[in-house]
Amino acid sequence: MEHIEIGIVGAGPAGLTAGIYASRARRRTVMFDPGMIGGQIATAGKIENYPGFPDGGVDGLELGLAMHRQATSFGMETRSEYVQSIERDGSRFILHTDESDVLCDAVIVTAGAEAKKLEVPGELELVGRGVSYCGTCDAAFFRDVPVAVVGGGDSALDESLFIARFASKVTIFHRRDEFRASKILQERVFADPKIEVVWDTVVDRVIGETDMTALAVRNLKTGATQEFPLSGVFVMIGSTPNSNILEGYVPLDNGGHAETNLWMETPIPGLFVAGDLRTQAARQLVSAAGDGATAAIRADHYLSFAFAE
Ligand code: NAP
Repeated sequence: MEHIEIGIVGAGPAGLTAGIYASRARRRTVMFDPGMIGGQIATAGKIENYPGFPDGGVDGLELGLAMHRQATSFGMETRSEYVQSIERDGSRFILHTDESDVLCDAVIVTAGAEAKKLEVPGELELVGRGVSYCGTCDAAFFRDVPVAVVGGGDSALDESLFIARFASKVTIFHRRDEFRASKILQERVFADPKIEVVWDTVVDRVIGETDMTALAVRNLKTGATQEFPLSGVFVMIGSTPNSNILEGYVPLDNGGHAETNLWMETPIPGLFVAGDLRTQAARQLVSAAGDGATAAIRADHYLSFAFAE
């Protein structure tokens, strides 16, 4: 079986930064991810709050690819493989991927999170035919037609502003009467003439035969129901951590995030969790990158002592 020093699960900012630090520490490091390099930032469009880019921000996809080139320049390898499970093998770990088994001295799991679903009738049936979870990816398919966005966080407002460049109108449905999103995004949304906000409202059903044609919604205060003719709905209601490979032997909090200490250590020596997957993360690009650096520094220290000859 192939034997490496540090296996990294996930190619988002936490994994990529861990990769830079681990490979620069001259550890044989392999990153596993079948998806896009950059993870969530690959589809985030312009990022305005990552330090060091004062002139209009930085493109998320480009930043992710640049981080990857940086890690690769220090020797990190990348495999487009899905890690199905992690098995303990004495003080080491075996990563079982969809293509191979790899023995690792330490593992850093940065598998991130995936979009939460509304869980209403019609939603899954109409994914790709009106229902989307990524404005940056799909907004251009909704040129000059009315669409909805569901949610009241930074993602919902950020994406609404982007989608409004294409759609004829964006209606934001939010379940409360105030947004949790940052004030600067709220100001921009309220100032955009193409965006309307419908408060205290939830989605009951996505309507359409072959393509979405309308959204059935309900006002939580009055109970009134209404159908809005719309060509699309962007569901931006947060994300669920990809913690399935940790279930059973790493403690998870109520939201499914892995519990770690401030060194990103889990209770299992040599197994680290960093980024959006860990409990109490700020869920920002900059904090994910910081987590990745911390995990790799600690993993390097751990390997110096755990496997000292
Ligand atoms: P979030 O902050 O968790 O917001 C989720 C939103 O969806 C909330 O407004 C929530 O309503 C609503 N919601 C949740 N479940 C719902 C349901 N079943 N039905 C209807 N509405 C539902 O998630 P996010 O916006 O994806 O942001 C995640 C993290 O990434 C945050 O830390 C955020 O700051 C960060 N982020 C930052 C930026 C930026 O800075 N530009 C951009 C994107 C994301 P309630 O408010 O009522 O709970």
